[in-house]
Amino acid sequence: MNSPQLKLRGVRKRYASVTALRGVDITLAPGGSLAILGPNGAGKSTLLRVMAGLAHPTAGRIEFAGGKHDRGQVGYLGHATLLYPELTARENLIFAGRLYGVNSPQARADQLLAEEGLGEVAERRVGGFSRGMAQRLSIARARVHSPKLLLLDEPFTGLDEPAAQRLTERLTTLSAEGHGLVLTTHEISRAARLARSAVILVDGTVQESIDSDAMSEAELRAAYARALEAAP
Ligand code: ADP
Ligand code: MG
Repeated sequence: MNSPQLKLRGVRKRYASVTALRGVDITLAPGGSLAILGPNGAGKSTLLRVMAGLAHPTAGRIEFAGGKHDRGQVGYLGHATLLYPELTARENLIFAGRLYGVNSPQARADQLLAEEGLGEVAERRVGGFSRGMAQRLSIARARVHSPKLLLLDEPFTGLDEPAAQRLTERLTTLSAEGHGLVLTTHEISRAARLARSAVILVDGTVQESIDSDAMSEAELRAAYARALEAAP
């Protein structure tokens, strides 16, 4: 068997007075997809930031395929946009490509714009973009260095239904192409459609986890309800 793409063992994260993660174990197979669900304040964003290498665990360890933590392997989309409104879509990607030391950032930018369906707006300033367009560009930006694993924090927030639908299709394609995918969301139906596994986090603890290729929405809803009931 291949070694897991991502493995967390006993991960704890304490801020000054708050314990956000209380010993989290997660294993993601190569090219696997995982939805992290849970109520507000459960620790979902913290968990994603730990996976991204943006927050250091207070205890426990995190391993990537082939060795230690490597930021070059992950693309992260958080709540704050990293896009520059006064630059065009293409300029934003070229700039990000240079930051990551990508070979031929122009060519990579054009490739990503085409893949995300943004070719026609490549030369437009991002300040005028709809939330859906900006979100697609943010995902392109997160992918600029060709990471094997994409970490997306609430990627559907603020999108209208057609934009959310397009994003779902896009992420399904990326996953089918072999990208590892971890996302947080509070939309159970979308999580069930997108991911093959799920964990339900309550108060920094994984209360339920599902790992089956045939994870259904009903199964996920039931697990979510159990998790809330079991939480202290
Ligand atoms: P979620 O994304 O599930 O809503 P978070 O990971 O954002 O949860 O937060 C988990 C807990 O950690 C919350 O109690 C939150 O207030 C706290 N927290 C998150 N980030 C910080 C921080 N930078 N400093 C202090 N407390 C934080
Ligand atoms: Mg959050």
